[in-house]
Amino acid sequence: MKFNEIEFDTYFKNYPDKNGYFGKYGGAYVPDNLKKAMDEITEAYFTICKSSKFISELRRIRREFQGRPTPISYLERLSAKVGNVQLYVKREDLNHTGAHKLNHCMGEALLAKYMGKKKIIAETGAGQHGVALATAAAYFGLECDIYMGAVDIKKQAPNVARMKILGANVVEVTDGLQTLKEAVDAAFAAYLNDYQNTIYCIGSVVGPHPFPMMVRDFQSVVGIEAREQFLEMTGELPDAVVACVGGGSNAMGLFSGFLNDPVEIYGVEPLGRGEKLGDHAASLTYGSEGVMHGFNSIMLKDANGDPAPVYSVASGLDYPSSGPEHAFLRDCGRVKYDVVNDEETIDAFFTLSKLEGIIPAIESSHAVAYAMKLGQKMGKGSILINLSGRGDKDMDYVIEKYGIR
Ligand SMILES: *Cc1c(COP(=O)(O)O)cnc(C)c1O
Repeated sequence: MKFNEIEFDTYFKNYPDKNGYFGKYGGAYVPDNLKKAMDEITEAYFTICKSSKFISELRRIRREFQGRPTPISYLERLSAKVGNVQLYVKREDLNHTGAHKLNHCMGEALLAKYMGKKKIIAETGAGQHGVALATAAAYFGLECDIYMGAVDIKKQAPNVARMKILGANVVEVTDGLQTLKEAVDAAFAAYLNDYQNTIYCIGSVVGPHPFPMMVRDFQSVVGIEAREQFLEMTGELPDAVVACVGGGSNAMGLFSGFLNDPVEIYGVEPLGRGEKLGDHAASLTYGSEGVMHGFNSIMLKDANGDPAPVYSVASGLDYPSSGPEHAFLRDCGRVKYDVVNDEETIDAFFTLSKLEGIIPAIESSHAVAYAMKLGQKMGKGSILINLSGRGDKDMDYVIEKYGIR
């Protein structure tokens, strides 16, 4: 299907369909008992989350606890450096806890509360999703179990400490390689044992239906705010919007505000050290169709067809697939996906910090790096970048590996 055959003014009514498909991507490829739990969440989502009580409570929380709306900042000095183009950033780094992830974690935890669940659980790799979810659990007084590989627990001590201070229970997973994949398996097993009392909160627009839809809807506040703010600031829409894509939640949040507009949309994937399999995590650029973690999408596969090992300097982007909606928007041509490598990313990290006084997350630095290249190519017009998070978490690593530039 090509995008001129899709009616974007009614897009959100039709995508995903009732079985969770965006075209051929998405669905819920899970065992029967887990399917039952997913169906229960889907039903609750459509009744509870569309109720005015839920919506007004979520709005209040966003305003009073998260600090929304986050502003848009014009990047005067970076724009001058790039040339004739006007660059702007949507400041998700100013959202409470320093990134966009809290947008969907607060929504998921509020849903858990309305469903009468006592506990929320999740896996985490670098710990960012774990911290956001632990924050939401503390706010709502829910129990919170975060599954994390033993190797990751050692590497991510500050985030482990944050989760514990927030009252979460960090469950050490010692199977296999003791990293993210094993943590996912352990968290799903725990969920299956106790799905009556628990909700599994997925950390991006990935996983089985209804999560890609739900997380997108919770993140869409970014795009809705950004569109309105940009119009008010400039009197026009941006010519292009840009966001980094790991699982794809911050990108879907921004993109959903502009799908029905004459705006170019770009998703930026991590090229890491280069094009060889294992050196990057650019699944939409180099991957092929396949099912993993309960959904059908585009993924990077090893020789056996299993999820391939991936690498990126940004730990939040090193996932071997992306959400099904991105695969769909790629195929129909509405969103263009492209890559930047580690070196370009670190350069953008320092450039934005020095010229604008904003230290970006390394994930977000991918979007900044791409916008700088795109701006040079465009030569005129405006670009809105989603600054998905702040870089405090990355400073020690960047200085150790790259020094100060
Ligand atoms: C986790 C994370 C990402 C990647 O996740 P998406 O679901 O692709 O948005 C990007 N930026 C920051 C700051 C993150 O913490």
